[in-house]
Amino acid sequence: MRRWMIAGNWKMHNNKSEAVLLAKAIKEGTQGISGGDVVLAPPFTALQSVYETIVDSHVLLAAQNMYYEDKGAFTGEISPSMLKDIGCTYVIIGHSERRKYFHETDEAVNQKVKKSLATGIKPIVCVGETEDERNKGVTEFVVGVQVKKALYGIDNINEIVIAYEPVWAIGTGKNATPAEAEEVHRFIRNIIGDIYGEVCNNTRVLYGGSVTSDNIGELINMEDIDGALVGGASLKSEGFIGIIKKASEKK
Ligand code: PEP
Repeated sequence: MRRWMIAGNWKMHNNKSEAVLLAKAIKEGTQGISGGDVVLAPPFTALQSVYETIVDSHVLLAAQNMYYEDKGAFTGEISPSMLKDIGCTYVIIGHSERRKYFHETDEAVNQKVKKSLATGIKPIVCVGETEDERNKGVTEFVVGVQVKKALYGIDNINEIVIAYEPVWAIGTGKNATPAEAEEVHRFIRNIIGDIYGEVCNNTRVLYGGSVTSDNIGELINMEDIDGALVGGASLKSEGFIGIIKKASEKK
């Protein structure tokens, strides 16, 4: 069975002291939970303090973005080697907010995935259709293209986590039903199975989009859902710990 993963994407929230308090509460509230990974993705400015809070614990650190060069004249960017240096295990790549507001393309996502792997940081690659695309019946086409382009030229599929995040479900309170999510997760598993064969049986595919402690129970028990990337509900320790506890009960 694949290890479950619950990753909290704090987006542009929490200064240093708020981040430390939240990380500490999550670490303490999930002590002893096994069989999966708890990941926190604070803003860049809180990575160091969150790292110091969770170091040597079961909680792992992620960044929310990176650039695909190691160093150079790229004002405002952060390189994967800098993230590694500060203690990140994971990096979120291609979140729909980056695609929408910062015009991140599938090609840039692919470059970032390649560079993160080359640096020893595991990418959590986000894909997902808009509401309009779902209504037009092109969800599989859109997600299929995003997955194939993100993975183009990449061998080590088991170092990658894919997050299926329907754009219409992010931050809206309108989460996909477990059946709707499972259908796309199965589709993604089939795509990676066609490319990589059985070796990708261990690749994790997370669901993201208005996950809460009330709806995770049903989602996590779908065969092809290995966990969740959580935005809003990761900002309050109680709710996020509730999500983690339910994920750890996956049958
Ligand atoms: C996200 O931003 O990745 C996300 C899933 O957000 P939310 O849980 O708030 O929908």
